[in-house]
Amino acid sequence: ASTALSVIKCKAAVAWEVDKPLSIEEVEVAPPKAHEVRVKIVATGICGTDDHVLKGSIPNIDYPIIPGHEGAGIVESIGEGVTCVKPGDKVIPLCLPQCGECSFCLNPDTNCCLKTHLHESQNLMPDKTSRFTCKGKAIHHFLWISTFSEYTVMPDSAIARIDDDAPLDKVCLFGCGFSTGYGAAINTAKVKPGSTCAIFGLGGVGLSVVVGCKSAGASRIIGIDINKDKFTKARELGATECINPQDFKKPIQEVLLEMTGHGVDYSFEVVGHTDTMFHSIYPLTLCCCLLDYSSYVFPGWKTKDSIPKLVSGYMEKKFNPDVLITHTLPFDKINEGFELLQSGKR
Ligand code: NAD
Ligand code: ZN
Ligand code: ZN
Repeated sequence: ASTALSVIKCKAAVAWEVDKPLSIEEVEVAPPKAHEVRVKIVATGICGTDDHVLKGSIPNIDYPIIPGHEGAGIVESIGEGVTCVKPGDKVIPLCLPQCGECSFCLNPDTNCCLKTHLHESQNLMPDKTSRFTCKGKAIHHFLWISTFSEYTVMPDSAIARIDDDAPLDKVCLFGCGFSTGYGAAINTAKVKPGSTCAIFGLGGVGLSVVVGCKSAGASRIIGIDINKDKFTKARELGATECINPQDFKKPIQEVLLEMTGHGVDYSFEVVGHTDTMFHSIYPLTLCCCLLDYSSYVFPGWKTKDSIPKLVSGYMEKKFNPDVLITHTLPFDKINEGFELLQSGKR
């Protein structure tokens, strides 16, 4: 029973306040309560959204906080009433829960489970307490999953069991970046064969949009980034043309109009800040997909159902997002990972 479980001491990366690097601390991780699961995180990615947390550009975040939401690990222990996983299972924490019972979970047209943390301005477990303590202080959770910790606790609605053979250092990408970008193309925009797509921003998420557009059969996939180093990978994954807006004197909408004659069928904003540049192409586009959290979270996927299927697709070699992984670092070097992200080298 969960009463026999003890507190675990381990390392975690804590953001004590806005605009400071993460600091690696020893934290105490309390045992999971009823309907919660404690997981040993084996691998975690760094997403643009974690960078927004460090910079303080996401509303309703409370500090100190342990960020991270793109991870994979192994169940260490379970609280009372947990039936979906058991100790030893390989899992991916879900940045959007799927309780399976609320009216939105029962509605096939939405993935926004009503139990989600997104409706409330707090970063605590559903019972409004924290499982993390550091130097005697309670530390906040992020999206209920805080993957920048060697051990973390999450509600059982925010965890999915995956294939026992899945390589955790690769499939952690399905926890956010790959699923978000791929899902934006195939679920949200529903890209059609033969269409023309424009993708603004070719980071991990934007490149995953490229993969989705290609697998949906788009015939022209135009990648747009101010960092031309991103173009090689974009082409490798299926972009047919890549352009840097800074190479042109005229506005990007005129460049796209000239390239296509009529504008594009689908455009995706995956830069992270919507400036006038993206808005200027609205009139040229049949369907615009804005990938910030106010528009779509985890585009279209019912997380608990879909992530294990995406991982199985990976095991069957249906798609291969391994190429999105540019660096693998030990946990202690997490700040170097953020520097790589900020300098555009990843
Ligand atoms: P990233 O930083 O790796 O990629 C951003 C890319 O945009 C970089 O390649 C950068 O060079 C490029 N860029 C910057 N300014 C540009 C401009 N003016 N024009 C063209 N390109 C420009 O970030 P990422 O991890 O790929 O995430 C991208 C965004 O997606 C983030 O804002 C993140 O918060 C968001 N996101 C949303 C969801 C969701 O569920 N809706 C999930 C994950 C990420
Ligand atoms: Zn993310
Ligand atoms: Zn629900």
